[in-house]
Amino acid sequence: MNEKVDFRNTEVAFASKTNAELLKARFLFELLRNKPLVAFGNSFVQWALHIGLPIEWLIKSTVFKHFCGGVTLDSCKPLVARLEESGVSAILDYSVEGQDSESQFDQNVQLIQEEINNASKSKNIAFAVFKPTSIGRIEVFEAASTDPTFASLEFEAIKGRYKAIGQTAAALSQPIMIDAEESWMQTSADALALDLMREYNINNVLIYNTFQMYLSDRLQKLKDCARSAEEEGFKLGAKLVRGAYMEKERERARKLGYTSPVCPTKEATDTLFDQAVAFVFENPESIAVFVGTHNEQSTLKAANLAIEKYTTLDHANVWFGQLQGMSDQITYNMASAGARVAKLIPYGPVKEVLPYLIRRAEENTSIAGQTGRELSLLRKEMSRRKHQTTAQSK
Ligand SMILES: Cc1cc2nc3c(=O)[nH]c(=O)nc-3n(C[C@H](O)[C@H](O)[C@H](O)COP(=O)(O)OP(=O)(O)OC[C@H]3O[C@@H](n4cnc5c(N)ncnc54)[C@H](O)[C@@H]3O)c2cc1C
Repeated sequence: MNEKVDFRNTEVAFASKTNAELLKARFLFELLRNKPLVAFGNSFVQWALHIGLPIEWLIKSTVFKHFCGGVTLDSCKPLVARLEESGVSAILDYSVEGQDSESQFDQNVQLIQEEINNASKSKNIAFAVFKPTSIGRIEVFEAASTDPTFASLEFEAIKGRYKAIGQTAAALSQPIMIDAEESWMQTSADALALDLMREYNINNVLIYNTFQMYLSDRLQKLKDCARSAEEEGFKLGAKLVRGAYMEKERERARKLGYTSPVCPTKEATDTLFDQAVAFVFENPESIAVFVGTHNEQSTLKAANLAIEKYTTLDHANVWFGQLQGMSDQITYNMASAGARVAKLIPYGPVKEVLPYLIRRAEENTSIAGQTGRELSLLRKEMSRRKHQTTAQSK
C-alpha cells in the first residue's frame, strides 16, 4: 500500500484546482498561521455580525468559500460534480449550530430528510449527516446523559426526530452518519444512535455513529457497542475521528473542577485512534468503518489493514474522509489508489455556519504541523506548475 499511495503527489492532490484557487488557498493558510490574528478575527467577526455590520461578503469570499460548499443544497452541486471527476464522493452537511427552538428543530429534520433524499438520488453523495444538537437542545441531551431515567416532552420530541430520520434513511436505503459533539451530551446521543442501528443495521450498515478517540473512554465505548451489536444481531457503523472540541472540553473541566475526559497528550490520542482502527478491522464481519482524519499515518495504517482484511481498498465496509478545504493530498491520492473516500462539505447560511468555521480556523492554527503541511503542499504544487509552464514555453 505504501508504495501505491504517495501523499506528496501534489499533481494528483490539486488536479481539480485552478492556479487562482491555489493562490487563494495559500493566502488563507498564511493568515491562519497567525494565531493572534485568528483569535482577534474570530472575536471581531462574531461581534460584527452580532451588531449587524455588513461583513458577510468578506467571510463568504474567504474562509466560507474555502471550507464550505455553499449556502443551499443546490449551490453545492458544482463542487460535488468536480469531486466526482476525481473519483471523490461528497457528504453534504447542513452545518447550522446553536439553535434552540422546537420549530427550528422540526424544520431541521425536514432539511436532513431532504439531504437524505438528495443523497439517495446522487451516486456521488455517499452519506447524509446530522448533528444531534441540530434536532434538540444540548441541555436536554445533557440531562438525559446525566440521568438515564430522565424523561421530558422535549426528549420525547428528540427521540421522535431520530426515528423520523432513521425511517427516511431506511426507506431510501441511504447511509447516514451522526456527528459527535461535546462529551457531556454524548451518552444520550450515543444511546439514540445505537437504537437506530438496532433497527436498521441488520443486513447492511445504514447508520454510523461517531467515536471521538481523543476521549480517554472511547475505545472501551467502541468495544461495548461492538459487543451489543454482536449479542443482539445488528451491525455497527463506526465513524472514527480524533475530535474537534478539545479546547472547549478542557476549559469546561478546568472551570467545573473535574478531570478532562480528553486524553492528556496528543500521543495518547494517537495511540487510542490506532487501537480503535485496529479493533474495527479485527471485526470485519460486524463493523463498517469511516476513518475521518487528516493524519497521513493514521490513513496509511487503516488502508494497510483494509487491504490485509479485504484484499482491496474498494470495499463497502471501509470509507475514508476529510473535511472540505483540508488535506487534499490524502483525499485525492487515496481516491487515485482506489479507496472509497469522501469530502465532508458543510453548507448553510454564513451566519449559521460560523461556529463550524471558527472551529476550522482554530484547528488550523492550533494543530502544529497541519497548516504548515497545507502550505508546503500548496507551494510545492505552485512551483511544479510554474516549472511545467516554463519548460513548455521553451
Ligand atoms: C469527515 C470527518 C468528520 C468528522 N466528524 C467529527 C465529529 O462528528 N465530531 C468531532 O468532534 N470531530 C469530527 N471530526 C474530527 C475533527 O473535526 C478534526 O478534524 C480532527 O480531530 C483533526 O484530527 P486528525 O485526525 O485530522 O489528525 P491530527 O492532525 O493528527 O490530530 C489533531 C487532533 O488530535 C487531538 N489532539 C491534538 N492535540 C492534543 C493534545 N495535546 N492532547 C490530546 N489530544 C490532542 C485533537 O483531537 C486534534 O483535533 C471529523 C473529521 C472528519 C475528517
